[in-house]
Amino acid sequence: MAIEKVSTLLKMADESNTSVIGFNCIDYNTVYAVCHAAEIANTPAIVMLYPEHCIKNHVSNLSAFAGMFKGIAEQYQVPLALHLDHSSDINYILEAIKAGFTSVMYDGTRIPVEENIENCKKVVEIAKVFGVDVEAELGYVGFASNSDEDNADLYTKASTAAHFSEETGITSLAIAIGSAHGFYTKPPKLDIDRLIEINNATDTYLVLHGGSGIPEDQLNQAFKNGINKFNVGTEFFQLYYDTIRKYCDEFGAAGNPFDLPDYVHNELVAYLVNKMKLSKFN
Ligand SMILES: [Zn+2]
Repeated sequence: MAIEKVSTLLKMADESNTSVIGFNCIDYNTVYAVCHAAEIANTPAIVMLYPEHCIKNHVSNLSAFAGMFKGIAEQYQVPLALHLDHSSDINYILEAIKAGFTSVMYDGTRIPVEENIENCKKVVEIAKVFGVDVEAELGYVGFASNSDEDNADLYTKASTAAHFSEETGITSLAIAIGSAHGFYTKPPKLDIDRLIEINNATDTYLVLHGGSGIPEDQLNQAFKNGINKFNVGTEFFQLYYDTIRKYCDEFGAAGNPFDLPDYVHNELVAYLVNKMKLSKFN
């Protein structure tokens, strides 16, 4: 059985001094591509759902997505896990746990730290009962469109990270060290010294968000120095939509609609297998 908990994959990554990659997925095509690519690359991977796709875009719902993940992932031998990305709504997180998510992210970055701690504690308490992993975020990984990655005031502080992890009992912590969500307007510069400081201050697994466009040498540095989970969304989605457009441009009205899924799948798998080379599991 290929389905594992995120914490199992984090432990494996930590032992290999590397990072497991979490890919944001939106539908069957993206989930299937991640699971299939992981099997081909023989590299564990995480399928993540961003709540907005359900709440705002209505392209999925929690139980449909969890069921779809299970149905696909159980076909493979490679370890695969399911994770709910960024939610600041405790009731929604509960719904996700009920729907079968074995890992959730509570995002309290927009509220004061003490409140973030209190809410996180509540989530961890509930999650524990169901054996569910909890990721939280400290500091603020903002948006590349705002150049948030350059704003050191938003970065995570090592002392606060240690206090936060101890108080809440979370499984993993997303930290702000110079990355941001979306496409960067110029290459970001990760604060590796700060990462080392945070990694020395806490035993909690560390997570890097905003993975679309960080130079590979910086990622290797980050993985060696304590990042055990790395999130990729934007560039994967962009490739998905570009590939559909490419198919339509190339084949136009003469294209067989039955050929489109295979065409897209092959392109996505090729990208993913290459991306997964960043994860260097022993
Ligand atoms: Zn994120």
